[in-house]
Amino acid sequence: MDQTLTPTVIPRAEHCISRSKISPNALKVMYRLRAAGFRACLVGGGVRDLLLGREPKDFDIGTDAHPEEVYRLFRNCRLIGRRFRLAHVQFGDEIIEVATFRAQTPDDEESEARGVLTDDEGRILRDNVYGTIEDDAFRRDFTINALYYDVETFAVLDYVGGMADLEAGVIRLIGDPEQRYREDPVRMLRAIRFAAKLGLRIHAETEAPIHAFGHLLRDISPARLFDEVLKLFLAGHAVQTFELLRLHGLFRHLFPATERCLRRESGGFPRTLLTRALDSTDRRIAVDKPVTPAFLYAALLWEPVRARAACLVGASSESDAIQQAADEVIAAQLRHTALPRRFSLPMREIWALQPRFEERIGKRPLRLLNHPRLRAAYDFLLLRAEAGEDVQEIAQWWTRFIALEEGDREVELVPEAAPKDGKRRRRPRRGGKGRSGTAAPQD
Ligand code: ATP
Ligand code: MG
Repeated sequence: MDQTLTPTVIPRAEHCISRSKISPNALKVMYRLRAAGFRACLVGGGVRDLLLGREPKDFDIGTDAHPEEVYRLFRNCRLIGRRFRLAHVQFGDEIIEVATFRAQTPDDEESEARGVLTDDEGRILRDNVYGTIEDDAFRRDFTINALYYDVETFAVLDYVGGMADLEAGVIRLIGDPEQRYREDPVRMLRAIRFAAKLGLRIHAETEAPIHAFGHLLRDISPARLFDEVLKLFLAGHAVQTFELLRLHGLFRHLFPATERCLRRESGGFPRTLLTRALDSTDRRIAVDKPVTPAFLYAALLWEPVRARAACLVGASSESDAIQQAADEVIAAQLRHTALPRRFSLPMREIWALQPRFEERIGKRPLRLLNHPRLRAAYDFLLLRAEAGEDVQEIAQWWTRFIALEEGDREVELVPEAAPKDGKRRRRPRRGGKGRSGTAAPQD
């Protein structure tokens, strides 16, 4: 691709972006920047998604104002990021991200002197060299992410052939793919994410290095990878994203223990549990239901936990084995992707409650019903049952038990005096009957 400094200008009459589709807050920010004498364009996913006829997730703005200048213009503004200094302008729930035009990352000796710091692998550590809009276009990741909507002329400016790639449905890195992945290996994950989300094809040259370069993700901080994992799996296309990550050999660099289990049992139920969990996440997002990283991670790491607990269970109770396996699996996972405690604690509870579903003696089920994590843990139990784990009968019992009126639940309880009936570990695979003798209804 030739680097050209004159953009192709697509006038308003020849593209479909109308101001009515742009967030009024983003327009407000652009107009105020312009009034103060700066240049302001919509750029990135906002332009890309509008051109594809989709509703953008957020609106990013590019400007020649420096972050401090943006800060001075807006009362509701915060400066964030060290590696990449940005201004966030907040309007209620909506954040408009304003980034100063930046120079393309040079990979020569001048780079450090100019303020771009790279490590031995060529990875960018600091990236705060401001530049022109042309510079800014070339330092972006994919051609389809480097289109600018100029609020002054309503035209789209294309420096890198993004419009043609968008029309052809192609995701293509700007510049030399190997160099661009070395600079920032997260671009590999972004390629997969956009391919899954937008249904586009990754260009052969952009795709080619991914398999061999996946290990570079090991140098990315677990905190950044955690953010990326959420974007990958909580954006409504988790199943497709998972398939593509595995196909391109990237999943193993994010979740190595899970990958090992998947390989051991290819086609078996670990994959079924995970794909079912991802599918249910996608379906919840499609109808605007909340999704939590705790449940997602519980599913992603369940098989390593289950496999490890199975090895430990001879020496301790099932509950203790799961706790210890959870400790080990989480500690190993945190070296790859972070998981803040506000998510790891509920994830642990979801796992810890699994053996407790088997305890149906005395008042225990009634106590479990009041557990704050019951709903998530029960959903997880259903997932295990659907995926073929030997918990179908328990899952059916709980489905019926939860559905009963409060006063009717006592009848279902297993009296203390009949422990064997309630505590069997092995249960018939099929045709499990409840204590009342009626087949459990499925809903
Ligand atoms: P979406 O917000 O829908 O997930 P997006 O393309 O807007 O997609 P953001 O992460 O919001 O993604 O980034 C905004 C823009 O910043 C991108 O479109 C791209 O131009 C640029 N960008 C983001 N991350 C990188 C990166 N790692 N390397 C180069 N450019 C990037
Ligand atoms: Mg965006």
